[in-house]
Amino acid sequence: MTTGTVFLVGAGPGDPGLITVKGRDILGAADVIVYDRLAHPSLLQYAKPGAELVFVGKSSAHHAMLQPDINQVLVRKAQSGKMVARLKGGDPFVFGRGGEEAEYCKENNVPFVVVPGVTSAIAAPAYAGIPVTHRDAASSFAVITGHERDDRGEAGSREAGAAEGRRNWAHIAQAGDTLIFLMGVEALSEITTRLQQNGRPPTTPVALVQWGTWPAQKVVTGTLATIVGIASASGITPPAVCVVGDVVNLRIRLQWWDDRTSRPLFGKRILVTRAREQASGLADTLRLEGADPVVFPTIQIKPIADNAMLSTAVSNLRTYNWLVFTSVNAVEPFSKALAENKLDARALAGCKIAAIGPATADMLQRRLGIVADFVPSNAVAECLVKEWPQQDLTGCRVLLPRAAQARDLIPQELGRIGAIVDVVPAYQTVRPETDDAELRALLLAGKLNILTFTASSTVHNFVDAINLSEDVELQLAVTNIPLAAIGPVTASTLRDYGLSPSIVATTHTIPGLVEAIKEFYRTNRP
Ligand code: SAH
Repeated sequence: MTTGTVFLVGAGPGDPGLITVKGRDILGAADVIVYDRLAHPSLLQYAKPGAELVFVGKSSAHHAMLQPDINQVLVRKAQSGKMVARLKGGDPFVFGRGGEEAEYCKENNVPFVVVPGVTSAIAAPAYAGIPVTHRDAASSFAVITGHERDDRGEAGSREAGAAEGRRNWAHIAQAGDTLIFLMGVEALSEITTRLQQNGRPPTTPVALVQWGTWPAQKVVTGTLATIVGIASASGITPPAVCVVGDVVNLRIRLQWWDDRTSRPLFGKRILVTRAREQASGLADTLRLEGADPVVFPTIQIKPIADNAMLSTAVSNLRTYNWLVFTSVNAVEPFSKALAENKLDARALAGCKIAAIGPATADMLQRRLGIVADFVPSNAVAECLVKEWPQQDLTGCRVLLPRAAQARDLIPQELGRIGAIVDVVPAYQTVRPETDDAELRALLLAGKLNILTFTASSTVHNFVDAINLSEDVELQLAVTNIPLAAIGPVTASTLRDYGLSPSIVATTHTIPGLVEAIKEFYRTNRP
């Protein structure tokens, strides 16, 4: 058997968008992913189906797995021929013990590859609006560990303090204009005292950035003289980066990620109920805004096996005048049916094409190279029939491939102006297996700030999943959470269940929904 390779991959500091392209590609190809708590859990979505996920999480003073055991896991898995990705917070060679893991691979003749990452030493200050260098404030920076290794060689453990006395603080205090301490929270008092003893003025600005780049980011600032009191009063715990130097003052002007005025969604936990296949678009948009999306898919898009109706319709395309797509979900099964009938986009030459909204039009273009002839100004069935470009469809044949269960508005209204409409089921939506108990717990504990609904089916299945109609306590909890609907139809489905949406998007698209939620926070919750 050939030995596999160990890839030491930097996950970046938290924000999942900060992984490198190379790192993401390796996650997608690995047989085994070994990860810890500083890597964002959503990065595991890149794992290929069936990949083995091994959590070796550590936090200061609590080790799920000791370093020698982690080394062994990496080497053993590789020796059994597996491709192993060791996903490490930040950069693998910045206090990540990646050097030791690489050495252990080398000793055991296991090939390794290092994929550097965005280190929290620079990124956490950056997300706090603190550039580590600045023309007017600092021309150098040093990255320093808050405490030395102890006898067991476990960086981050409590015994580490014993080694403090042996450190050369005179050297550390002058190591750069900006000093950045990692793993420094527990030793903060030691650090600030020694720096002052070694020539740094007590008025030197200091910032602590906890969970930097995450939606939970928390920043406190003070000076070498005051920061210890401020940190304990505000309950700063690891992981946090401590930044010492004049650059800290720039935060007053450069604060951005955690600035609630310009980023009203920062830190908000927002429930995403769409299908997993589609959730990532909304979740990613929310993450860019600094929100913390909680993905709980209430629907799953399933193909219809042996779809004879769609197949027949596709082979008779030349008999249709219009083809109407009311969801992105219909495009894929339609394209597949074309291919199965040995046809391609040319079979659509005689048809005009309508798409319900920009996302569907975009999918048609990408998947089939087709430009829709008609997209209504707002992505809702009412608007599609109202703005339909021909008001007399006498004798026209319209093909409508769509969900197995859907409203009759379009066939009815187009039929009323003369069209012969063939409704063909192209896919079905079902309720996926989900951890309903976990969602109930989050709702009851008031841990969610907004619940989003992007279709009536997400409302029905949400209510079903948590058994809302039967549970008064849960009803009360849900009533206290603002609900956001993508449009009037979804909003009215919410009302059917006695739930009243606080937010109804005026543009019925994902960006429109996110904009509406931002607007809600701008006006309602300063
Ligand atoms: N290799 C990592 C550092 C690992 S040591 C890197 O390059 O970022 C662990 C320490 O890193 C923590 O104790 C904390 O000081 C710092 N750290 C890691 N992620 C952080 C984050 N998101 N915010 C603040 N500090 C972080």
